[in-house]
Amino acid sequence: RAKLDSHEISSVSKDDSPVHGVSEIVVGVLGGGQLGRMLCQAASKMAIKVVILDPLENCPASALSYDHMIGSFDDSAAVQEFAMRCGVLTVEIEHVDVATLEELEQQGVDCHPKASTIRIIQDKYLQKVHFSRHDIPLPEFMEIDDFEGARRAGDLFGYPLMIKSKRLAYDGRGNAVAKSEEELSSAVTALGGFGRGLYVEKWAPFVKELAVIVARGRDNSILCYPVVETIHKENICHIVKSPAVVPWKIRKLATDVAYRAVSSLEGAGVFAVELFLTEDGQILLNEVAPRPHNSGHHTIESCYTSQYEQHLRAVVGLPLGDPSMKTPAAIMYNLLGEDEGDRGFYLAHQLIGRALGIPGATVHWYDKPKMRKQRKMGHITIVGSSMGIVEARLNSMLKEDSSDSQ
Ligand code: ATP
Ligand code: MG
Ligand code: MG
Repeated sequence: RAKLDSHEISSVSKDDSPVHGVSEIVVGVLGGGQLGRMLCQAASKMAIKVVILDPLENCPASALSYDHMIGSFDDSAAVQEFAMRCGVLTVEIEHVDVATLEELEQQGVDCHPKASTIRIIQDKYLQKVHFSRHDIPLPEFMEIDDFEGARRAGDLFGYPLMIKSKRLAYDGRGNAVAKSEEELSSAVTALGGFGRGLYVEKWAPFVKELAVIVARGRDNSILCYPVVETIHKENICHIVKSPAVVPWKIRKLATDVAYRAVSSLEGAGVFAVELFLTEDGQILLNEVAPRPHNSGHHTIESCYTSQYEQHLRAVVGLPLGDPSMKTPAAIMYNLLGEDEGDRGFYLAHQLIGRALGIPGATVHWYDKPKMRKQRKMGHITIVGSSMGIVEARLNSMLKEDSSDSQ
């Protein structure tokens, strides 16, 4: 693997002319987790050079990246130095130093999506305010600063009440449910207290959770991927079914809300729009991620253009690719850590062993250095000629036989 110093990288990337020779482009990605890793995989097909900024020497993207600068995406000096090595800067995580991105944009550094978008999205309360101003349907929400405010919100919205921290949330860490007024105190404490910055959402009585990946090119062209159903286990995405099995009208409405939500944000790239479908057929927005997303992993095997390739095409200014499915149905199953350490690896490898014998199944293992309970360690995508067939294949993969059930 070639290692270039910062001077060499910047010398091939700083160019005001339109982007054509893709192999000369250096895309800098803030973060080197599994999303960064899959961006590197897609980039290799087109000879796009992806460099990453991540503090962990053996982060999932490191071995596949063109270059890895070790440092934090939340550290201003590191982000500035990293930006000098890149032709275009993007993110695989929204919890980055956005003030530095804004300064870099002022200096002419190309960031996609725009820093303004990341600023809105990294604070979930600001995000809700933004989308409600753009008439996007949402669960009702309210900022809370103290118990008096929390009780008022409970009186207004009823229970269960969803309490969320505004910042640094992922995989449900940052959410706590109060089932009654008596539980407000323990829920707030579990989130680290009011000082952390909290708000509440009215409980969304959803029948399904849906998601839409929306891609926007640098020319502002927008394309939407098929609507998927996401199934969460303890607040963590667990299974994704594509396409979602919902009436045509619901698919249209979900796509419309997702399109409008992304249209209100600035910059190129793929965006994931998480949605609730309520019993009475309403679509409410949960949140938006300004990057590739777990609900789009299946696109690697099931769509003509994966979300990762699409993100790269978008940020470097290439034409967007076809987001439609090339297979009738797909299911993505997340490999979540079931146990710490060796036992966890053993259980995951048992499942991978079975997946390798399932027709239409592809295994993705992120090579994370440590196994932890509930950590996303990898995923398996199964494609097939109908949803019934891929569901049956998933069930047979999950069924343990007597030889590996201990
Ligand atoms: P992610 O990993 O997607 O970034 P997160 O930590 O940002 O997750 P949310 O997306 O806010 O968390 O919520 C996680 C899950 O909690 C949702 O997918 C949904 O299942 C549930 N949830 C969130 N908000 C509500 C709500 N207002 N009413 C009911 N359930 C909710
Ligand atoms: Mg989130
Ligand atoms: Mg979410």
